[in-house]
Amino acid sequence: MRIHHLDCGPMRPPGGALMDGVSPGLIGRLTCHCLAIETDRDGVVLVDTGLGLRDMARPWPRLPALNAGVLRFRFDPDRTALRHLKRLGISPSDVRHIVMTHLDFDHAGGLIDFPHARVHLMEAEAKAARQRRTVLDRLRYRPAQWGDTSRWHTYPDRAGGRWFGFDAVVQLDNLPPEILLVPLPGHTPGHAGVAIEGPRGWVLHAADTYFNRAEVHDAAPHGAKKAPPVGALAYERMMAWNPALARANQARVRELVASREAPMAVFCTHDPVEYVAMTIWSARGAGQVGTERAA
Ligand SMILES: [Zn+2]
Repeated sequence: MRIHHLDCGPMRPPGGALMDGVSPGLIGRLTCHCLAIETDRDGVVLVDTGLGLRDMARPWPRLPALNAGVLRFRFDPDRTALRHLKRLGISPSDVRHIVMTHLDFDHAGGLIDFPHARVHLMEAEAKAARQRRTVLDRLRYRPAQWGDTSRWHTYPDRAGGRWFGFDAVVQLDNLPPEILLVPLPGHTPGHAGVAIEGPRGWVLHAADTYFNRAEVHDAAPHGAKKAPPVGALAYERMMAWNPALARANQARVRELVASREAPMAVFCTHDPVEYVAMTIWSARGAGQVGTERAA
């Protein structure tokens, strides 16, 4: 197994360090951190898809203008999962499965670029996305991005077993046992993390359970506690379907990070520092220098 880290939707939001905690000046950086997992028997598995080719070429009205205005995506077709994979020598038809943490527009846009892949997600997420009941749901869920939804393969809540203190963790059908869906609802009704036992041990892609590393990784390398950036927190709050549940599940991830019994790399979708760190960490495990750098 080999894990590639891909940024499939780089953003340049105003606010600098208020959005990412590190950028000098007025403009911050955020990523759409997706994974491409080369498995031994089941082809390539994508975790989330970021923005797709069509989103990059003609963003309106595919994307919600309010969110895209705040986040300021770089609309660059070369940053889609499809083009990232081509540069890695992986054909789109090699992608047999896509595991979705949730269906927000900044995660689901590339679904339509891989029409032959089976899409795995929580049932609660599929239901909420299809119904689009609230104003927030109509902003975040964009049916034009999904392609054929008959290939969605959904998992009910409470279907799974235990994993490092988390319960109802889902083993995915026709996928290796090293890839698990970890329900972490709150940001959306069927939001989930994806745990992978890779060449360097377990990693947890926590998606939008948090937006900035300071929310769950308590100490900076020199030991000082850093407050999470207020701009990222404000956007996270605005997009939370159930803020109390989101906070509770974020606390569970914080406990996992702090636990000595579960040494693993935990990262989210939109933190640019985690993205660079994971790219380097994974490439070292593969004995290589990273091939995809932060845009
Ligand atoms: Zn997101």
